[in-house]
Amino acid sequence: MHPQLHNFSLMTWGEILATEESARDFLLHPAINLVPDRDQTPDCPQCGSQMKAISNKNKKFGFIFVCSQKYKTKCNGKVCPTQGTFMEGAKIGCQDILAIIFAFVLRMGIVFTHRQINQWRSKRNLKSMSSETIVDYFCYLREIAEVVASHNSKKLGGFGNYYY
Ligand SMILES: [Zn+2]
Repeated sequence: MHPQLHNFSLMTWGEILATEESARDFLLHPAINLVPDRDQTPDCPQCGSQMKAISNKNKKFGFIFVCSQKYKTKCNGKVCPTQGTFMEGAKIGCQDILAIIFAFVLRMGIVFTHRQINQWRSKRNLKSMSSETIVDYFCYLREIAEVVASHNSKKLGGFGNYYY
C-alpha cells in the first residue's frame, strides 16, 4: 500500500493533490500501479525488444517508452505509459483525475464533486469542467468498483454493492 494511504484523511488528500507533480508522482508510485513508472518497461509492440523510457515534456507523465533498438534497427516502436490504463485518453490533468477518484471513493455526490472541482479549477485559472465529464468518470469508476466487487465479494460485501 502507498504510505500516504495509511490513515488517509482529507488532509492527506490535500497533500497529494497539492500540485500536478505531486498528483503525478502519486499515480506513478509502484504501490498505486495505475500507470507504469519509468522502470516498468514494456516489450516493443513491433519487434519484441526491451523498451526504454525517454523524457517528453508534452506527455502527461513526462515520458514515453521507445524501442531500445531504435538506432540499431530503426524500429520505431513507441508506447505511451497510459496505454491500456485508466488514464488512457484522459483530457484532464492528474490533479483533477485523482480528485474525482477520491471524491468517488469518499462517496461524494456527483453534483457536489462537480461544484468542488470547478471552484478549484477556477482558482487554478482552468476552464470549467462539464458535468458530462464528471458523470463519465463516475460511471467508469462504478464499472471498476463492480468488477472489483465481483472478484472480491468478501472484501467489499458482495456483488452489487457499489461504492456509491
Ligand atoms: Zn522495436
